[in-house]
Amino acid sequence: MDAPITFFPSSRRSARTEAPAAPVQRFHTLSVILKVTERCNLACPYCYFYFSGDDTHREHPAFADDEMLSRTLAFILDAVREQGIRQVQIGLHGGEPLLLKPARFDALCQTLRDAIEPVCELMLLVQTNGVLLDARWVEILSRHRIRVGVSIDGDAQAHDRTRITKKGRGTYAETLRGWRLLNEAVKEGRAASASILAVVAPDRCGAATYRHFREALDADGMNFLLPDLTHDAPEASPAHIEACGDFLIGVYNAWVELGGSSTRGSVRFIEELVGPLLDDQLCRRAALGRRVLPNQFAISTDGEICPDDVIRGFAPRLRQLPYRVGIDSAAALRETPVWLELIEAQSSLPAACSGCLWRNVCGGGALAHRYSHANGFDNPSVYCAGLKKLYRHVAWSLIQAGASEDAIERRLTTDWTQTAPTQEVSHV
Ligand code: SF4
Repeated sequence: MDAPITFFPSSRRSARTEAPAAPVQRFHTLSVILKVTERCNLACPYCYFYFSGDDTHREHPAFADDEMLSRTLAFILDAVREQGIRQVQIGLHGGEPLLLKPARFDALCQTLRDAIEPVCELMLLVQTNGVLLDARWVEILSRHRIRVGVSIDGDAQAHDRTRITKKGRGTYAETLRGWRLLNEAVKEGRAASASILAVVAPDRCGAATYRHFREALDADGMNFLLPDLTHDAPEASPAHIEACGDFLIGVYNAWVELGGSSTRGSVRFIEELVGPLLDDQLCRRAALGRRVLPNQFAISTDGEICPDDVIRGFAPRLRQLPYRVGIDSAAALRETPVWLELIEAQSSLPAACSGCLWRNVCGGGALAHRYSHANGFDNPSVYCAGLKKLYRHVAWSLIQAGASEDAIERRLTTDWTQTAPTQEVSHV
């Protein structure tokens, strides 16, 4: 029988939580990556969590215990009250979150809902490798309206190279079984949503991968992540970077061939690129939105708080942080040196990107891909060459399909910091 989760009263929190020294900044959304476990049943070779050089997971508890979860809930409720948060997004992460016993996971979700839903909107998300997904898990995920992302890297051949057990065995068959159960529940209206998250494989075909997800797996939503490389990574060769861009171009081409935005099969990176190229307000939002570090925290199983789950692996100074749930408040954390460094990095374009035509839709790329030991975050994305190739291809494709070249160029070259939100609206 699974142990019930017992939450401790908030009186156990320290005085530092009650009296943040920093001025309060207002956010609408609080996003928490909650490590319910730091163990995994797989050993995918590109996993940032286990193979980036950050071995702190070995020192952390395998599973978050009741006291840590209680402190985390208090941390979240404090942030909601102090920052006027309207929506809390909690990503139940690992390791592999479905390693929790189902009854304990169920109880955790119910406790979070009981405490947070009366004060603001709550969105629960899970990212899973899908191996353990069965009917019982699907029922729990459905009942709590949890949005589920399943990691699948392509067809059986592609997936079984990278999504492997510790003994090296591929897991496509198990993941596919779990995906089908979950996707069926979504199609029947029982589950909230299911999407596929794939890591770009530069030696594979992006178009074939997209078609596999759409046609064989009947996926309605998906995204493709570039591997977590920094400028210091030996794999970041020009050929590798270009091949990653080509993979994404292949995905885009197949998306267009299968109907583009007029059909199911949405791809997040495509929506985030095509929308801003075709619409002033979306372009404005993309250009300005990238300049704000999300109100996001990653919480380890021992209660340690980091600003970002991926970035912590790059350098000890980005992970050896003395911040803990139950001691530090969300507002105060955003005034600490590491957060200020990341806020500064996110709010400013890398110097080398200042004259780039694509800066409004790219913003210098993902913060994680900008990092080098020499310059910190003041670099263009390590994927810059591949991204430029993708942007050129997509913009040209839209123009070929009838979009105005002048309007696209104007959106790309406008300084959106100088415009009001409704100053111009054009969908041409
Ligand atoms: S395409 Fe390259 S140079 Fe241009 S904004 Fe992106 S990372 Fe910077």
